[in-house]
Amino acid sequence: MMDLGATLCTRNKPLCEICPVAASCQARQQGLTRQLPQAKPRKALPIKQTYWLLLQDADDRILLEKRPPTGIWGGLWSLPEFDDMAAAGNWCRQQGRTEQTPQVLPTRRHTFSHYHLDYTPLLARLENPRNNVMEADRTVWYKAADFALLGLPTPVKRLLQQHYPEDYYDENG
Ligand code: SF4
Repeated sequence: MMDLGATLCTRNKPLCEICPVAASCQARQQGLTRQLPQAKPRKALPIKQTYWLLLQDADDRILLEKRPPTGIWGGLWSLPEFDDMAAAGNWCRQQGRTEQTPQVLPTRRHTFSHYHLDYTPLLARLENPRNNVMEADRTVWYKAADFALLGLPTPVKRLLQQHYPEDYYDENG
């Protein structure tokens, strides 16, 4: 049966004329050789929701954090990530003087093989960041023009390119 599927009964061009089981083939009798077999319905992927903070300082630099060495995007630079908006707002206020609530940007989706990641960017500005010194190991404040110097996950890179189209420079596109 597997040989039949691999040689004669292919999905796009079944060779019914020379098929040894043509006489008893239900697909042929019912004129369904073009429709069968149907593609397996795709399994719905689970959805994970997260919030990414686009935090700018007074010099229009953006805060990036290094991700843990293991797990998705291990070791790459990314935006601070939170489970909900309240946590992002609280964390933001701990970093310095800021508006009460970050501005919510439209949610976007990145799809992995096993799940969809829905991420909602939150835009906030810090007037007097407590941590305004570049920390090369875990946290950096970077100008959009310098993002190309860092390894960024694709959706983070895309978000930053869309949000700072004038400033973002990346010779690799
Ligand atoms: S007759 Fe049926 S089994 Fe044979 S090639 Fe055509 S569709 Fe496939």
